[in-house]
Amino acid sequence: MAENKLIYFDNAATTKVNPEVLLAYTKVCETTFANASSVHFEGQKANRLLDKSRELILSSFGLQNSHQVIFTSGATEANNLAIKGYVLKYKNRGNHIIVSAIEHASVLEVVKQLHDEFGFEVTYLPVDEHGNIDVADLVNAIKDQTILVSIMAVNNEIGIINQIEEIALLLKSYPKIVFHVDATQAIGKINLNYSNVDMFSYSGHKIHGLKGTGALIKTKKLELLPINSGGGQEDNFRSGTNDVAGAVSLAKATSLVMGEIEKNKAKITAISYFFYEYLEENPDLYEINSTKDNPYIVNFSLKTKKASVVVEGLSNKNIMVSSISACHSRREAYSHVVEAMGKGELSHNTIRISIDSNNTIEEAKTLIKELDILVRGIKQ
Ligand code: PMP
Repeated sequence: MAENKLIYFDNAATTKVNPEVLLAYTKVCETTFANASSVHFEGQKANRLLDKSRELILSSFGLQNSHQVIFTSGATEANNLAIKGYVLKYKNRGNHIIVSAIEHASVLEVVKQLHDEFGFEVTYLPVDEHGNIDVADLVNAIKDQTILVSIMAVNNEIGIINQIEEIALLLKSYPKIVFHVDATQAIGKINLNYSNVDMFSYSGHKIHGLKGTGALIKTKKLELLPINSGGGQEDNFRSGTNDVAGAVSLAKATSLVMGEIEKNKAKITAISYFFYEYLEENPDLYEINSTKDNPYIVNFSLKTKKASVVVEGLSNKNIMVSSISACHSRREAYSHVVEAMGKGELSHNTIRISIDSNNTIEEAKTLIKELDILVRGIKQ
């Protein structure tokens, strides 16, 4: 194993926990460990912490009056609860769902299951060569039977930013349609107004919080069929003893990252431009798949070498990047996102660099140096 200092450019897969968040978590574990459903004083103390965590999360998004927080184990669970919970509750209203073709597996597999097992019809919106959906395609896809649209705010592989505010406003004129957004890769990175979004999901571990924490945020009036039934916690939407420390940690992580979006922008952009400059100088070696609009994710395909070999080579130098996304890389041999962009064979050979405020220009320089050696030097 390499002895070099760890260089971690896989922040879209997960992030390092912020010590402040960890401290908030351990403090609750030590001092307020009672069951938040217990009626005794300690239980009520824990329950108040849950309420305060919900308030802090909602105020971080400016949604105190309109929305509510359902704590989950992460974005996968939140996406399942939002999509299955809504369409199964209201299947009498219609049986058509619209998603983009480049959603995360925790959306695509859910709508596939709803199609295969429950007979829902699913429309997959195509994307252009940059990964953008066309809002006109969405409008054309809407039918009388449409009850749910789910579109991610930011794609986890190529970082494309969807026009969530515009789509949310547009869908307001379709009262039967609920709009769900997988916001996992947007929180703390891209400033978005969620006030017209009916439901959105995210994970704590993508924002320097803890694994196993996350939330579905939904408008107060919206009803869902619970996926986890039981003791009625989380307003009956998600039963199971509350993870108070997890909730407190998620609230802390959320408020911290939402407060730093503007502060981090210049630094992340500078690092990403460094990568783009190098990639653009070498068009014979690299095809760039991401755009500069979202500096947090730089994605490219290798034209002459195998991405898996290069990722392993970098890993041997203690530099961590991803080929495809971490959730897929053990299962699929290609990127469904880059393929949907029409890049054919190049979708089998992608590398994702995902940047965080802890990264430095020096680390970027080292990555580029080692990448260049590997791409020019590997014999296959
Ligand atoms: N949606 C997106 C866009 C993601 O990037 C991820 C994590 N890769 C998820 C959902 C699922 O998050 P988790 O694994 O934390 O449940």
